[in-house]
Amino acid sequence: MSSVTTKLNPYQMAVEQLNEVAKLINLDPGIHEYLKYPKREITVSIPVKMDDGSIKVFTGYRVQHNFALGPTKGGIRYHQDVTLDEVRALAMWMTWKCSVMGLPYGGAKGGVVVNPKELSKGELERLTRRFTFELVNFIGPDRDIPAPDVNTDPQVMAWIMDTYSMSVGYSAPGVVTGKPLEIGGSLGRFEATGRGCVYTVLELMNKLGMKPNEIKVAIQGFGNAGHVAAKLLHEMGAKVVAISDSSGGVFNPEGLDIPKAIEIKYPKDGKKGSVLQYLDVDPKAEKISNEDLLELDVDVLIPAALEGVITDANAPRIKAKIIAEAANGPTTPEADKILWSKGTYVIPDIVANAGGVTVSYFEWVQDIQSYFWTEEEVNTKLKNVMTTAFNKVWELSKKENVDLRMAAYMIAVSRVAKAMVLRGLYP
Ligand code: NAD
Repeated sequence: MSSVTTKLNPYQMAVEQLNEVAKLINLDPGIHEYLKYPKREITVSIPVKMDDGSIKVFTGYRVQHNFALGPTKGGIRYHQDVTLDEVRALAMWMTWKCSVMGLPYGGAKGGVVVNPKELSKGELERLTRRFTFELVNFIGPDRDIPAPDVNTDPQVMAWIMDTYSMSVGYSAPGVVTGKPLEIGGSLGRFEATGRGCVYTVLELMNKLGMKPNEIKVAIQGFGNAGHVAAKLLHEMGAKVVAISDSSGGVFNPEGLDIPKAIEIKYPKDGKKGSVLQYLDVDPKAEKISNEDLLELDVDVLIPAALEGVITDANAPRIKAKIIAEAANGPTTPEADKILWSKGTYVIPDIVANAGGVTVSYFEWVQDIQSYFWTEEEVNTKLKNVMTTAFNKVWELSKKENVDLRMAAYMIAVSRVAKAMVLRGLYP
């Protein structure tokens, strides 16, 4: 099973995954049926006054899948290809991600059909504020808590927080997470996804008798998730031998100088560099394609860019013992079967990249308490949540002889189903 596919309608895919898990855990047929559908779907028209004085109308969605464990949580994306079925699927996957991590949330997702690169900052702000206003009765710290996703950032979250706060008449920082620090964001949020991913890798390595200072790592994607994972593994003594971005990859079998690569990709002037510029500073490094990077002779492979990159075509040639899915849905279901049969461990996306939502949860807790933690406290708590969740998945995988992904889904769906049975059906 994989979280994203390019072949099937994503919502159909999510329902098929649920059907597969339901069989394995003998899920009550009524609960199974109930879980197939989102609890609530909101579609809104968002009229925006453009800078030239004209009015444009955009379509926005918010889908709330399940409330059994608590308020719903999930990102909002701005993209021209957003569809309701995609948002439905992402909302269901958020239910499973929050559940397997033991967080007190159900899943939700939102999206606006827009190419934000075509909007000015003012237009983007007006779009965000009107979208938030349309949702004001359905979101809130106790109802549904959005967060950043594709093309939305801390500034967009700040506008959502402000619009919601203006509507209810008091400051409500707990309505969104991923906010700037100054208005209730959390320390550690920026690094959370990469850091959380590394904690799961360390836990698995420990079980397999592998040591950080003896391993080679390849990382596809040097963005938020990928570069943080690279930095932390490098600091622990691992040889990060290959990294890449959309322009291509660099490879040095003796290990790359990761701090140097970060300086190049993220220069202090705020402009973004390219991973390929690293070739200018390391004579032993050579260029490598994003495809070849996946097949390198390494111990740990971290896909941290795109979905669907590990398929039945390349899975037989993948040499890594551990694949940690920092990206959402990098492995196709066919590839999963091949990897499992040859003894490769795939730490599934709903666990491997859940550090982001976990520190979002911490942000929400800090906002509600108006009491803020140090970065060290955040990281210690993150480690605890990540390793606890990973260990539960590991144990079930051994007990049931299923791969880590299936074990994660079994835990996630069972926890939600139990909560639904305990709460009963209203009225
Ligand atoms: P990002 O935009 O910061 O980085 C993405 C990286 O992938 C960039 O380096 C980009 O150049 C690279 N890339 C783009 N196209 C590529 C290609 N064809 N081949 C190789 N590299 C390519 O994004 P991110 O936040 O790091 O997210 C990466 C993945 O992690 C996504 O799947 C995202 O859904 C997932 N994820 C991120 C978070 C988070 O908190 N950042 C949380 C959960 C999941």
